[in-house]
Amino acid sequence: MNQNPFQALVTLVELDHAIELLINEKKSAEKIVVQAQKHLTALEEEKQILHNRSKEKKIQARSIEQEIGRIDQEIQKKQQLVDTSRSAKEVTLLRDEIVFIEKESARLTEQMFPLWEEIESGDKFLQALGVQLQEAQKVYNTTLEEQKHVQERVDEKITILHDKRTAVEPLVNPEMLHEYTRMRKTVANPIVFVDGNSCPVCFYLLSSNEQTIIRRQARVICQNCYRFLYKRLI
Ligand SMILES: [Zn+2]
Repeated sequence: MNQNPFQALVTLVELDHAIELLINEKKSAEKIVVQAQKHLTALEEEKQILHNRSKEKKIQARSIEQEIGRIDQEIQKKQQLVDTSRSAKEVTLLRDEIVFIEKESARLTEQMFPLWEEIESGDKFLQALGVQLQEAQKVYNTTLEEQKHVQERVDEKITILHDKRTAVEPLVNPEMLHEYTRMRKTVANPIVFVDGNSCPVCFYLLSSNEQTIIRRQARVICQNCYRFLYKRLI
């Protein structure tokens, strides 16, 4: 292990950065699962709503059909009465009644057609939705499986990096470590290493004075984002 305290800080910062990237990788995998889950839930909810609507329409259709059946029986009864009646007056009266009831039956039958059409197209839509739902379930299962793999792989890597970090931490200059730890509470990467002449995070251009300081392996505070800037050791 390199005993140079500055080199130790560089290693520590790079380890933290690597850990952060791995955590982000894990979060992205989790986000994909959440999205797949949301899509699945939305489809399930839509299916439930359509299913309930279809059920209501079928109940409505059945009740109209029953009413038509009842009316048709009534017509038959009255027709029998017409056939057996000996009173012309009664026959006229019954026939008037039959005409009136037949109109009601026709009106209900008319109501039935659009209702059955709605039920039929609703059922077709539900069937298509069922296929979509199966696909969404497959996607969800796959992403969940992938996310588990990512998590396992990333967790293993993180454990290794944490062990390395624990080993390197005592080698860092305590003052630097204290400042770094304090600043990390507010910003994820408070120490950045400069390759050119500007802050790699906010692109603040270093003055020639600052460039001279940084070349001497000394710390410069970015005047724009207040991160600590060090020259990378090659
Ligand atoms: Zn900056």
